[in-house]
Amino acid sequence: MSPPWSQPLDVDRLSHGETEIDFDVPLAELPRLRSRIAGIGGSVHGAARFGRRSGFAMAELSLVGKATLQCQRCMQTMELGLDGTTHVALVFEEADAAEVPDDLEPVLAREGRISAGELVEEELLLALPIVPLHEELSGCAVPPAASLLPEEAPEHVTQRPFEGLAELLRRK
Ligand SMILES: [Zn+2]
Repeated sequence: MSPPWSQPLDVDRLSHGETEIDFDVPLAELPRLRSRIAGIGGSVHGAARFGRRSGFAMAELSLVGKATLQCQRCMQTMELGLDGTTHVALVFEEADAAEVPDDLEPVLAREGRISAGELVEEELLLALPIVPLHEELSGCAVPPAASLLPEEAPEHVTQRPFEGLAELLRRK
């Protein structure tokens, strides 16, 4: 059976009923996110409160969680905290997006339906970096040849992919 977050929901029914839903979504299971961001992992807990504004179905979407990504500089896993609220307008056709009020972000709900997973995916496609990098260079796992001060090495890093390479270089 498919998980609840993947089930298409009827946007008109939710928005007229001012329904609130909450959900947990494993990020690695969102196909568009997975194809765009290599090695994506983690999960978010979210809530969506549906309603209507200016003739559009809308949702207040709150997400809290953690994404794991692969740093493209040191190729180690990095974590990115997610915590935010956005307001989206659910449009049934792309042409309608132009009419959406400025403070709402248009999201396409094909045939008037969208799943919680698709909502999360739309948000994170905008929010997550396409080329994830540790914010500080020092956050990267440094090759041993460059780390003269061993106490500065992050303790949680157990894999040292460059260790063998540095050894080879010294031996030449
Ligand atoms: Zn890094």
